[in-house]
Amino acid sequence: MLSRKEIKELAAIHGDGNIFVSLYLNVNPLTNPKGDYIIHFKNMLKGTLEKIDKETAKKIKDDIEKIGSYLNAIKRELKKGLGLISSSHSGLWKDYHLAIPVKNEIIVDKTPYIKPLIDILDNYQRYAVLLVDKESARLFLIHLGEIEEYTEVFTPDVPGRHKKGGWFSLSESRYERHTAFHVALHLKDVAKAIEDFLPKEYIGRIIVGGSEDAVLRLKAMLPHTISEKIIGTFHAEIFSGEKDILERSMEIMEAFEHKKEQAEIEELITRAMKNNQAVIGLEDVLLNLREGRVMKLFLLKDYSASGFRCVNCGYLTSFMVIPCPYCKGDMETVNYLTDLAVQKAVEQGALIEVVSDNARLKEAGSIGAFLRF
Ligand SMILES: [Zn+2]
Repeated sequence: MLSRKEIKELAAIHGDGNIFVSLYLNVNPLTNPKGDYIIHFKNMLKGTLEKIDKETAKKIKDDIEKIGSYLNAIKRELKKGLGLISSSHSGLWKDYHLAIPVKNEIIVDKTPYIKPLIDILDNYQRYAVLLVDKESARLFLIHLGEIEEYTEVFTPDVPGRHKKGGWFSLSESRYERHTAFHVALHLKDVAKAIEDFLPKEYIGRIIVGGSEDAVLRLKAMLPHTISEKIIGTFHAEIFSGEKDILERSMEIMEAFEHKKEQAEIEELITRAMKNNQAVIGLEDVLLNLREGRVMKLFLLKDYSASGFRCVNCGYLTSFMVIPCPYCKGDMETVNYLTDLAVQKAVEQGALIEVVSDNARLKEAGSIGAFLRF
């Protein structure tokens, strides 16, 4: 998974005389049914090779080959976006399978090109999940539907692990005091860990799971600036599997995002009615995409439409017009008009919000956008 730490490491690479090939490709199987991204890659590569000098071209020969064979081999693993960074001379190879589309780009430079990755970290909310019980805690990060374990907090010497009256032989009340002391100590460690973690990874939302008692006590110990970021809690065993934790957390995240989304869609519809930098309905969205004005695109998850595309300038429309009204180019039919619209939005740096269910948006045409100007 993409992390700040990894981005920082990539950003720190410069001045070692190596050349890096960074490739970003929209590989969405819907808009690339025949593996069209390989053609896009080859076309971009051709353009790039024409611009760089012979010596640089020689240096990246291995990288190009490696990327080419990688693209041919990975068909089944593809999500929507793909990022590859290769520098054979410095032994660097990174691949990022991304759940959101990216702008098609190939950059050959003395440093890795990481701006698209930074944008994804900045624009798509990440969540911390903290799982806690009386003597240990685990910290996870969730981003774009993926979970990764980040760290463990274990505070040793909590006597709960020993049998009462065993060799530990403390009197019962001393034993309880001892336990309470260590649990408090442990929860303090956990609070510290989450406090350190949030700013380091720029995380604004937390979900807390674990034993009921530990969750309650931890919440009470956290400073307000941290506890106000908690969007939900759940009960789970400390040794739960990642898949389980992800599922429980996703329920909470989806409910939270759904609420936020509904408020945004209300704003979208109100502003579109007032012609205040917002539009609703497919044709208006397509028109504004053509003009590069879309800032954030909303569309219903199950919404799809077919239409027409200009083979020359890429103009998209749901109406049958021949030839293209802008450049007189030929128009071709396209089955995945909405996916092409999403890709176009990404290319102009817009955010994409895929809405799972919203009656108001459906009524308004299933698609809409906030505009830049
Ligand atoms: Zn055209």
